[in-house]
Amino acid sequence: MSCIFCKIIEGSIPGEKLYEDESMIIIKDISPQATLHYLLIPKEHYPNIKEMSALQAATLGDCIKKLGELAEGLGLKEGFRIVSNCGKHGCQSVEHLHIHILGGEQLSPKMS
Ligand code: AMP
Ligand code: ZN
Repeated sequence: MSCIFCKIIEGSIPGEKLYEDESMIIIKDISPQATLHYLLIPKEHYPNIKEMSALQAATLGDCIKKLGELAEGLGLKEGFRIVSNCGKHGCQSVEHLHIHILGGEQLSPKMS
């Protein structure tokens, strides 16, 4: 298993886990691009949204709903942005689906 996010999920390499349940973890991004930058990572390994099953999509929806409930406790009371990079043009570097969560400051209205 060479996937870095699977290794963080199973605990064989360290990651700053802020939340964990049966479907996902939320960790701090190692290279933050905003005052607060977290990654929501489903526990099931699949590369990205293009290669997601209907069941995986439903689970991801539940995870995003849960993020809404957790946001205040994560310091995101004033709002946040979620992004999922997919493939070459999206500059995806880790091929285990993850959702970037950006906040803790006023973000630019421009998204790229
Ligand atoms: P992407 O480029 O969308 O695939 O995003 C991958 C993200 O994973 C980047 O923002 C990296 O900073 C982050 N990342 C890579 N390795 C780790 C790690 N060991 N712990 C936390 N974040 C990581
Ligand atoms: Zn993985």
